[in-house]
Amino acid sequence: MSPLLINFAYVISAALFIFGLKMLSSPATARRGNLLSALGMFIAIIFTLMAQGLDYKWILLGMAIGTGIGIVAAVKVEMTSMPEMVALFNGFGGISSLLLAWAEYHQHPEMSVFIAIVAFLSAFIGGVTFTGSMVAFGKLAGKITQKAVVFKGQHIINAAILATAVIAAVLFCMTPQSGAGYALFILIILVALGFGVTSTIPIGGADMPVVISLLNSYSGIAACAAGFVISNNILIVAGALVGASGMILTNIMCKAMNRSLSNVLFSGFGTTTAGQGDSDGPQGEVRPASAEDVYYILEAADSVVFVPGYGLAVAQAQHVVKELGDLLEANDTEVSYAIHPVAGRMPGHMNVLLAEANVPYDQLVEMDDINPRMDTIDVCVVIGANDVVNPAALDDESSPIYGMPIIETQRAKTVIVLKRSMNPGFAGIQNALFFAENARMYFGDAKASIQALVAEFKSD
Ligand code: NDP
Repeated sequence: MSPLLINFAYVISAALFIFGLKMLSSPATARRGNLLSALGMFIAIIFTLMAQGLDYKWILLGMAIGTGIGIVAAVKVEMTSMPEMVALFNGFGGISSLLLAWAEYHQHPEMSVFIAIVAFLSAFIGGVTFTGSMVAFGKLAGKITQKAVVFKGQHIINAAILATAVIAAVLFCMTPQSGAGYALFILIILVALGFGVTSTIPIGGADMPVVISLLNSYSGIAACAAGFVISNNILIVAGALVGASGMILTNIMCKAMNRSLSNVLFSGFGTTTAGQGDSDGPQGEVRPASAEDVYYILEAADSVVFVPGYGLAVAQAQHVVKELGDLLEANDTEVSYAIHPVAGRMPGHMNVLLAEANVPYDQLVEMDDINPRMDTIDVCVVIGANDVVNPAALDDESSPIYGMPIIETQRAKTVIVLKRSMNPGFAGIQNALFFAENARMYFGDAKASIQALVAEFKSD
């Protein structure tokens, strides 16, 4: 097949990727954006296979197995486990780039310095992405401790590992074709796999979303380097797009938590104890409310803002929340849903859940839009959110989440908090909001609690 035709197909694929990515930025177009990008990938795969004139049986077998696993995983995965799945996917992307660079080097050790450099980058970044993602998966799935694991001399060890990689890379790139070159390449792979673990275990608690996004970006950069190794234009473009968009998302999330990237990577979040735990955390009187109490408060409200968090996903309460929202609107109440950028366990988690329940997009409000008018809101209903509404982020300098922007529900006239107990949220710290004078705690599973409210409205 003519290279012109293949590159033309690649340009079409790249355009579809770019339009698809653009459309992912709004919930209204995200679904179509996803389909468009998938079409771009389909075209890229078909034309790449046709160009290579390969023996297809192994490729088809690989595609069939991969598609089968993908379908089962996509159908079975719980919404609450999506971040783990994203971590796994990032990891697989990373290991693919590593294996591709290795296979190419194995077959053609007589490579130029440039190809040796990109092969190193592909293998190293791919290796770090793989083991880093496996650690992130283990942490998010609760298979290993979710806390930051820090020990004395950790930064020195990491710096030493990195220095070893740089020295090995320089030596390797100078003489990839020598016998020592092969040993160096294997050393680079081992160092990368080790560095993925040692650089991810010190990150914990509320910093995990940033790490997932960063690893996603790494997987793109590794793929981009792999594209140079095998001179495949679409792999270079697709990798660069994933790398760049992951970096942008990482930056947005760092801003959402008011942290710098270096602070996320090196501060060992969650290892400090100041302001944490039940004993030294905020104390005070809790004001529990029954379904009937909450009903009367909501029934009299002119404006209600729902603030969903991780508990909404656990309870799968999105459909009943929408039902309650509709009933409130029918009662002439202004209803909106305030979304914190890191509510839940993955970027966009709450948007996905609410979209699933057909909550109109124009009722979704971002944190920066709702906070300035929070004093005018009659009732904030916090549904399974905790860290993202914790006022310690604003006023307790000893708190690990100090400086993270929050949805300032404490400034609404009344706050109703739906959760099952007084247990802390993801960051493991108590929340002064629950003891505030304008707060009422409505204990129970979020879905059951809201169903009880819906029943109250319907029986009215
Ligand atoms: P949190 O994890 O802080 O709090 C969730 C709350 O939901 C808990 O306090 C829990 O209390 C309650 N809950 C759990 N199950 C139910 C249920 N069935 N019914 C009612 N309530 C329930 O969630 P937030 O969304 O406020 O904050 C997200 C946190 O996760 C942040 O720290 C963020 O940094 C971090 N994170 C975010 C990611 C992202 O990309 N969005 C990814 C990874 C981490 P109780 O047990 O008492 O019911």
